[in-house]
Amino acid sequence: MMFDLRDLYLQVIVDHNKAPRNFGKLAHFNHEADGYNPLCGDKLHVYLDVNDNGIIEDVSFEGEGCAISVASASLMTEAVKGTPLSDFQQKFDTFQHMVTSDLEELPDEEQLGKLAVLAGVREFPSRIKCAVLCWHTLKSAVEDSHQVAKTE
Ligand code: ZN
Repeated sequence: MMFDLRDLYLQVIVDHNKAPRNFGKLAHFNHEADGYNPLCGDKLHVYLDVNDNGIIEDVSFEGEGCAISVASASLMTEAVKGTPLSDFQQKFDTFQHMVTSDLEELPDEEQLGKLAVLAGVREFPSRIKCAVLCWHTLKSAVEDSHQVAKTE
């Protein structure tokens, strides 16, 4: 059973790496940020379009990196698109908690949805930063910090 689940998780990651969703520059955006993970060399640029009602109207990313960093960014854009910006910090915290929690702790799939497929990175501590890079980059865009989000 566990193995079937892992295969499924792996398939989702492979699929999002091969065909990343929301990849490319947005025609219209009002926030953006760069992210860099020196440990692996992953580089991302995130574009964010927040409408007058505080809803993430659109979000996209560009860049290059390992399979985990690209798949994570792709899954993140799907997870936050169309949601209120005010919910972002909670999503960020929930994701951060999932990838840094004990292996025995099952991911909260109700809250995480498809993002739960990335719980597997806990087994490979050096890849955790690859998975969180996009979240730090989006946070930097949300806060308009104009600083490169770094995982170090
Ligand atoms: Zn990486």
